[in-house]
Amino acid sequence: MISAANPQRPYKVSIRKLDAWFGTKQAVKNVNLDIKENTVVAVIGPSGCGKTTLIRCVNRMHEMTPGATAKGEVILDGLDIYDKKVDPVVIKRRIGMVFQRPNPFPTMSIYDNVVAGLKLNGVKDKQILDRSARSSLEGAALWEEVKNDLHKPGSSLSGGQQQRLCIARALAMQPEVLLMDEPTSALDPIASAKIEELITELKSDLTVIMVTHNMQQAARVSDFTAFMYLGELIEFGPTDQIFERPEKELTERYISGKFG
Ligand code: ADP
Ligand code: MG
Repeated sequence: MISAANPQRPYKVSIRKLDAWFGTKQAVKNVNLDIKENTVVAVIGPSGCGKTTLIRCVNRMHEMTPGATAKGEVILDGLDIYDKKVDPVVIKRRIGMVFQRPNPFPTMSIYDNVVAGLKLNGVKDKQILDRSARSSLEGAALWEEVKNDLHKPGSSLSGGQQQRLCIARALAMQPEVLLMDEPTSALDPIASAKIEELITELKSDLTVIMVTHNMQQAARVSDFTAFMYLGELIEFGPTDQIFERPEKELTERYISGKFG
């Protein structure tokens, strides 16, 4: 369920002193970040600076890579998701993820792609599955395009449609937070614009944390921007502030295209 904004708890996600490693190589260094509910946060920075690793720590996906470890806290509505009592499976349900390359299950139908997670969680009622398929596809702005082709394979769709299908698949789990790792990097400009528009709509229902290497996209879509460099969070603030009057020289140099 979507939780109502809570004035006692102004942040949906708080990242505290987060470190992440691949073996002995540290990819994320002491990151602290507070994210408000119903906002879009863009994570920017040069290739290899730790953007993907950071967001993969936010739903405990990072530790699924052999040799990968994390230390610190990620607090979701007051719950430290790294607490020993917490089931990572539940966290992945509450915090969904969309990847760089659209990755629908290729042999599965459009319909089955969307409801795969629900079925895995034991939902069998056809009415519930139908309703979820429709509302998730509507939420991903794909319903009108596929409503007569629900039983065609997911792989029959265009790249942009496949990415919206992956968004629908994530929405079917009714996540509170959606992580998106460069969700438009494999798409053409028109398909990208559709996804950007969709992200803006999604934030009325959930909180979005989106990695992007496209600074114009960050400026268009996000409310807040986090700039990372060599594993560290250099600067975080309202997007217009980061782009118009950054406090750190490194941020200024990156956004003005002087490196990266
Ligand atoms: P970004 O998303 O900003 O490009 P990543 O989070 O993917 O950066 O990578 C951060 C650092 O971690 C880089 O130095 C990268 O080489 C390293 N890294 C990423 N994935 C792995 C992995 N599976 N094994 C070892 N090192 C990795
Ligand atoms: Mg990346």
